[in-house]
Amino acid sequence: MLDKRKFYINGEWVNPSKPNDLEVINPSTEEACAVISLGSEADTNAAVAAAKDAFDSWSQTPLEERIALVEKVMEIYKNRSAEMGEAISTEMGAPVSLANTAQAGSGYAHIKAFVRALKNFQFDRPLGDHAPNDRILYEPVGVCGLITPWNWPMNQVTLKVIPAVAVGCTVVLKPSEIAPLSSMLFAEMMDEAGFPKGVFNLVNGDGMGVGTQLSGHEDVDMISFTGSTRAGIAISKNAADTVKRVALELGGKGANIVFADADEKAVKRGVLQVMNNSGQSCNAPTRMLVQRDIYDQAVETAKATAEATQVGLSSEEGRHIGPVVSEAQFNKIQGLIEKGIDEGARLLAGGLGRPEGFNKGYFVRPTVFADVTNEMTIAREEIFGPVLSMIPFDSEEDAVKIANDTVYGLTNYVQTQDNDKAKRVARRMRSGMVEMNGNPRGAGAPFGGYKQSGNGREAGVWGIEDFLEVKSVSGWED
Ligand code: NAD
Repeated sequence: MLDKRKFYINGEWVNPSKPNDLEVINPSTEEACAVISLGSEADTNAAVAAAKDAFDSWSQTPLEERIALVEKVMEIYKNRSAEMGEAISTEMGAPVSLANTAQAGSGYAHIKAFVRALKNFQFDRPLGDHAPNDRILYEPVGVCGLITPWNWPMNQVTLKVIPAVAVGCTVVLKPSEIAPLSSMLFAEMMDEAGFPKGVFNLVNGDGMGVGTQLSGHEDVDMISFTGSTRAGIAISKNAADTVKRVALELGGKGANIVFADADEKAVKRGVLQVMNNSGQSCNAPTRMLVQRDIYDQAVETAKATAEATQVGLSSEEGRHIGPVVSEAQFNKIQGLIEKGIDEGARLLAGGLGRPEGFNKGYFVRPTVFADVTNEMTIAREEIFGPVLSMIPFDSEEDAVKIANDTVYGLTNYVQTQDNDKAKRVARRMRSGMVEMNGNPRGAGAPFGGYKQSGNGREAGVWGIEDFLEVKSVSGWED
């Protein structure tokens, strides 16, 4: 079993101020694969103090120097990406093929996209011709607490750490205590790249401990958080007393509107997107709204697709889905499947219990419900498992109404070969992202939500701006 009890504070791996062990559980085997420490207030304070001490000089270093270090960590990340894939697979259960490609790969892709965006970002701009002696300066916000979830661990960590340190902020990362191994490997990479001490710090801990200590800390200027809406609300409240900036990336309950004139692969594609990463993606299209003309056929396709979805160990290569992350998530998903059945949705595929052949591990059956109404619990709550709800609709107006009738607003999806209709519907979606006809968003496109899906935008130019203050200076002579 790996011993990962140390924290990375002020450029060194240090012991926690007092022992508080937590085992990291491999969700495929239900066995402990590592032990970490949960930090206490003294550890949080030490990390914040290191970040605060480092801020003055780090924020004044030339941008080129900071970008050079980011490029160095990008190179190291690339060379160690197999280790990264293994860490992610072990801690959160993504099958190795997915862990090595999309999971570990997303981290590399984000770093690369940030380097490009940073080189073109104007940190110092004139206000306009009407005010020639006014300058607008974009400056680092200060010490940032970065709190991340377990579902796409390196995606989330790189989306926060890289833009923050690149613009001159100093950071304390608190990764998910359920999946901390990838972040600890990332800390090794930051160390190897040679960032000055105190610029990047990592303290493991839980939400009630280190998470809350960071959001309430008077020397932390900003919290960037990705995770549940529940925790996002708690963080916002706790951060209010010190008026710190809070950037939130929260849950989702995406609608996938499949019109009768959608391309023939639309339904299958939608089901596979829900199953991917065992349904543990905030932007998963978990409500499939299908126009009634093609509903029966869509139901058949969805059933067949779910039944053909293989479930398997995370340690095995292949296109199967792995377990969900933890016993708590497994139980939550089972409860919601039961609720779907009780509230009268038609179970097409999957259902309660583990898939055949499994008596261990947090494996969930790929599940599809038809005849779901948007009022049912399975249409309203984020399930975060491989569970799809299919809802019929009649008109475009209907579809828009159902799609927007949710507290969330992260990603919606539109499938139609009528270009004008696609664009019309995209404009009416109350969500931060709309993906049409299976086209993924490009590198550097902003990621974030409306409503209770959050208020920040990560990636690209927007992900850089999140970590900047805007200063207005008058009387500036060139
Ligand atoms: P979670 O909210 O339980 O935990 C996320 C992180 O927050 C963890 O590091 C946890 O320790 C910490 N935390 C928990 N309570 C806290 C508190 N009160 N104060 C400070 N920190 C606290 O979420 P999770 O179960 O790890 O992740 C799943 C959730 O994340 C889902 O709801 C999913 O939709 C969401 N998510 C959103 C995005 C996005 O960008 N919108 C991306 C991925 C995941």
